[in-house]
Amino acid sequence: MQQDCIFCKIAAKTIPVNAIYEDEQLIAFPDINPVAPVHVLVIPKKHIANILEATSDDAELLGHIMATIPKIAAIAGVAEDGFRTVINTKDNGGQTVYHLHFHILGGRFMTWPPG
Ligand code: IMP
Repeated sequence: MQQDCIFCKIAAKTIPVNAIYEDEQLIAFPDINPVAPVHVLVIPKKHIANILEATSDDAELLGHIMATIPKIAAIAGVAEDGFRTVINTKDNGGQTVYHLHFHILGGRFMTWPPG
């Protein structure tokens, strides 16, 4: 846990969270500022600043997150119509919170390319 990290605090429940799914390695919760009708964040409980900071030691964790996203999307109600999964990385990627997170966006058609 990194003391000044908001997502570490969410993972540790020192900040209240309405988790829609949780297990030993990850937690999924609604984005506080949704940009789609369904906007869920999936974070590892372990602090990893972003995907650039992940190492081969994190391979099992990253695989677990990817393998669990379909279950979380189903719980969020977007699996049937589809959804977009986004990882923003550093400034040009639009990353604002430096704790790795996967956005699940759904409930409307997603245009391409992104802005
Ligand atoms: P990023 O821009 O890819 O780093 O995404 C960070 C996301 O975290 C943004 O969509 C924010 O709205 C969201 N966010 C920031 N603080 C909180 C919070 O306390 N609860 C839920 N979502 C948050």
